[in-house]
Amino acid sequence: MSGEHVLICVAWPYANGPLHLGHVAGCYLPPDIHARYERALGNRVLMVSGSDEHGTPITVTAETLGISPQQVVDQYHAINTQALLDLGCIWEPNIDPRGAEFGGALFNRTSDDEHKQYVQENFKSLLKAGLFEQKTMQQYYEIREDGGRFLPDRYVEGECPNCGEDGARGDQCDECGTTYEAHELQNPRSKMNPDAEIEIRDTEHFFYRLDLFQDVLQQHATARNPNWKANVRAMTKQWLDMGLRPRAVTRDLEWGISLPLEGNEWDGKCVYVWFEAVQGYYSCARIWAQRYAQSDDWRKWWCISDDGNTPRHLYFLGKDNIPFHTVIWPALIMGLNHANNGLSDVHPVSLPGPGDLALETNVPAMEYLMLAGGQFSKSRKHAVWLPSFLDRFDPDTLRYYLSINMPENHDTDFNWPDFVEKINNELNGTYGNYVNRIMSLGNKIGGENPLVAYDNLSLCEDEMDRLQEIYVQITQSLNRHRYKEALRHVMSAAQYGNQMIQKAAPWEAIKDIDSGSEETAESLAKLAFGWRLARFLAIVSQPFLPFSAQRLWTMLGQQGDVSDTAYESATDWSTTLTWSNIREPLFSRLDLEAILEHEESLVSSSQEESQDDPGHGVKGSGKKSKAKEEKQMEKAPEGTTFLNFDTFMSVELRTGTITTVEDHPNADKLYVVSIDDGTDEGRTVCAGLKPYYTIEEMTGKQVVFVANLEPRKLRGVMSEGMICAADDGEGAVKLITIDGEISNGSRVR
Ligand SMILES: [Zn+2]
Repeated sequence: MSGEHVLICVAWPYANGPLHLGHVAGCYLPPDIHARYERALGNRVLMVSGSDEHGTPITVTAETLGISPQQVVDQYHAINTQALLDLGCIWEPNIDPRGAEFGGALFNRTSDDEHKQYVQENFKSLLKAGLFEQKTMQQYYEIREDGGRFLPDRYVEGECPNCGEDGARGDQCDECGTTYEAHELQNPRSKMNPDAEIEIRDTEHFFYRLDLFQDVLQQHATARNPNWKANVRAMTKQWLDMGLRPRAVTRDLEWGISLPLEGNEWDGKCVYVWFEAVQGYYSCARIWAQRYAQSDDWRKWWCISDDGNTPRHLYFLGKDNIPFHTVIWPALIMGLNHANNGLSDVHPVSLPGPGDLALETNVPAMEYLMLAGGQFSKSRKHAVWLPSFLDRFDPDTLRYYLSINMPENHDTDFNWPDFVEKINNELNGTYGNYVNRIMSLGNKIGGENPLVAYDNLSLCEDEMDRLQEIYVQITQSLNRHRYKEALRHVMSAAQYGNQMIQKAAPWEAIKDIDSGSEETAESLAKLAFGWRLARFLAIVSQPFLPFSAQRLWTMLGQQGDVSDTAYESATDWSTTLTWSNIREPLFSRLDLEAILEHEESLVSSSQEESQDDPGHGVKGSGKKSKAKEEKQMEKAPEGTTFLNFDTFMSVELRTGTITTVEDHPNADKLYVVSIDDGTDEGRTVCAGLKPYYTIEEMTGKQVVFVANLEPRKLRGVMSEGMICAADDGEGAVKLITIDGEISNGSRVR
């Protein structure tokens, strides 16, 4: 379907620190991939989110640093907005390039005055409809000469009534996880002023009548269950099974949205942060429409039409946030509908109908991305921060790694060796290598548009069928929010391309280009189709890898912006072949050793230089003593005979990347290995490495090989060289690999 209204709602990041990779994998990358995909399908996408800027963690940070809460949130709103843009998330431009009727995006903030107005308006209508109840609560109060203040839970510390841990919070203990009433805390004190006198006082608050929505939320959950992921179903059920109770919507705190109420008994209180931040999805759409479209246009993305057409609402968030989006927010939306329809607490509440605000279509919530086994956490300072990551790496490397490793159904790990391996072997070794082959083979033919003359689709029926099949697989996975699976299908097209070119061997045909033979024509038709496959890759990989997809698009001589290109045109075979003179590698190889050294320096610079532990779990960082090294040099291994220098220099050792590895058809211990040796043809080498390496382990490695060994047939397969490996004579055999980055074909000496 094309032209549908799709509202993409992205969880609001808390403006109390920089984003880390856990946030990106869980909340910020999936909606960007999805928004890009829906746009490419021709749908009208409005994407909304922003910084969540109220609440006590921010005031605690501000008081600790001696600055204002506004300064804290200004700083992190700016840093996080920039980091998301640097990651390629389409928060800008605010208006879709096709025009405002196609939507756009707004990354707002909850300190925005218009957001405050909408929240206050909603507060008043829910109050008027009788959906709040007022109750007296007990809260710690810090007595000061200037009048004192109530202490929110994070501002009180004491000993846990359950485990006795000191430093437990006012309402819960982080140590044992117990929650309790304020008066149960032992030896309570003010966290900021431990010497101040504190006491428990009564305080009036409003509560939202969640209990009125129990039945209708149950109906809603039953209707949505078939589409919800297992984690969403389970957590929603858990909440509904517990029974819903009224929930406080106000609190004793200055930093927040003030209450739209008469009377000074409400001074010093504000709207509870949960109640207002979640309304940002709504306020943001309204503010977007006011600023960038017609002020009523927000309804197209929010309201069910008179004939019952419902806009699609997709909420992207981490698993800790599920009940907020499947229970609490729907209850607020239905409460607003109820109030707007002039009803009150004496009328039964109902699911939305024509004219009402719509409920969520799906909540593709993510599990956690862990950092080498531990959870990423802002507060525990255990993280890889997005801004510093993007200072050092191509954003597409992160987008690739987090997508192929997305915590869709279970927690996944981020670790540097795996990151480097996937970028080098998959992204660079498969995708980058394929594009490089097509471009360099085309350049070998030469001319302004070298491949167009050889384009012959009637010789490529199988290839068209295969790509059509892959296209269907990609879109099916994306429609089901299976991003990891979708990206695997994208990569399978690159793999298929490499096999197609390997089989067609166009480098042979290029030598024979004027022969006019059928064989030549067929081989070159495959090469020309290779251009089409590269164009397919640019379009289908765009939602995942927007920067490299655009570089590839330009290299292929295609005009404009690949993200403005319809997704289905990936398999439009009527496109005329184009070309450009721009040549650049799509991706670059990463150096694990250098990354680990850098990480190590961060860890050690942040720790006190207390212990001398040169190894510290990082391979190669320990330094042997000079004397020991010299001693080893004196003594060559037994049995060494000396070689004259010229003899040594006559052995041509070169670097090459292993592109594919296959079992030898006639030999149990041999692999048939294709090496990208820097030439267009590449070379094939038979290697007896099967007992020591799996195909996966070898593929993508940059190795050293003997380039001028006389070619010879090994059990029927021609071998053009020898791959170098170290053998300790006791069963261990290891490939010689390259330290750092160097182009294939470099001489080793
Ligand atoms: Zn405890």
